Amino acid sequence: MQYRQYGKLGYQVSAFGMGCMRLPRILRGDHAEVDRERAWEMIRYAADHGVTYFDTAYGYHNKTSEEVLGEALEGGRRERVKIATKQPFGVMQDLGSGGGKTLLENARRNLEAALKKLRTAYIDVYLIHNIGARDWEAIKAAGVIEEYEKFRAEGLIGAIAFSYHGDYAGFKPVLDYYDWGMCQIQQNLIDVDREATEQAIRDAGKKGCALVIMEPLRGGNLAVPPAPVQAIYDTYREKRSGVEWAFRHVLNYPEVSTILSGVSTMEQLKDNIDIFSKPGAAAESLSGEEKRLIARVREQYLSMKSISCTGCEYCLPCPQGVNIPQVFGKYNDGVMFGTFEPSRRSYMFQVRSKQDAGLCVKCGACEKKCPQHIGIVKELETAHERLKGWVE
Ligand code: SF4
Ligand code: SF4
Repeated sequence: MQYRQYGKLGYQVSAFGMGCMRLPRILRGDHAEVDRERAWEMIRYAADHGVTYFDTAYGYHNKTSEEVLGEALEGGRRERVKIATKQPFGVMQDLGSGGGKTLLENARRNLEAALKKLRTAYIDVYLIHNIGARDWEAIKAAGVIEEYEKFRAEGLIGAIAFSYHGDYAGFKPVLDYYDWGMCQIQQNLIDVDREATEQAIRDAGKKGCALVIMEPLRGGNLAVPPAPVQAIYDTYREKRSGVEWAFRHVLNYPEVSTILSGVSTMEQLKDNIDIFSKPGAAAESLSGEEKRLIARVREQYLSMKSISCTGCEYCLPCPQGVNIPQVFGKYNDGVMFGTFEPSRRSYMFQVRSKQDAGLCVKCGACEKKCPQHIGIVKELETAHERLKGWVE
């Protein structure tokens, strides 16, 4: 296993971090739950084979992921690994469940619950989950960071960190605002210049902020390359899987501390550990030829999109709250990768946050604003039919 510095915090972590948001599941009627026996086995196998970083969150697997991780690590493994978990601002704000508490009291209550579920007295890295440009001002005003500092002073948490989905313009002010221990962003061989982009990686590196990468396989989609992509990979002299190419792209950034992979089977876990243990898969190891091949793969994937949405967001806001480019992004992913499973799962979160295409009332306001002249109403209908129905 390859190990890397965790920013300026003075310790190293495994370059492979086990993400606990796609643990094996069992379907029970209209819902699904974690298959605990299999999940424990995988977590313990990882901890016994050099993996020292585990990532979970308050909400993963219907709020059971932290508990499953805590159960698996109890009895000697907890002390050998770092645990990162997250609390979303929206959950701190949910005072309905707080029994008359303030937002910050609620945040503390949620942290205490996480410690209990994880069966530990200390969380190594505690994140504000999924900071968005919309919430950022409110997070600062509410004093969340100062409250996290109190948690740290009391010895309940180690590094104060954040995860972020959004563009670079929104990322930079968050990064610059505070001396974060870690930031977690998305990067993969398709989205090099999407979301926070490569520039965010460089900025975090310059600050000495540990950098954790999520979605290196785009929700698992990069694992099984469609035929035209496989044909490009086949031109390379060494045989590598789509998974290995995707990980090598991210491992190449020297600023990256650890790369999260949300494994669902023991086979995937073993395969991931093998890739991260290859001496060649190191920082700045990609040759010009390999980088050019990855660029061709990216172009090929992007040419296979079906709805020509550029994500410009000119069609927003929709009066019903539909996040049109996000719906199209998930639909395009399904077409592009030849499987709708990961998109359907991620669409479930869009349904839960009331931004899905099922809310469209066909007013047509968005179509007038789309520079690509997309028949948005009809395409939303098609996308919704294909994406709806995931249970968890
Ligand atoms: S047509 Fe549908 S998606 Fe477009 S603005 Fe109206 S309600 Fe929103
Ligand atoms: S305006 Fe058109 S191209 Fe832009 S995000 Fe909306 S649907 Fe996509």
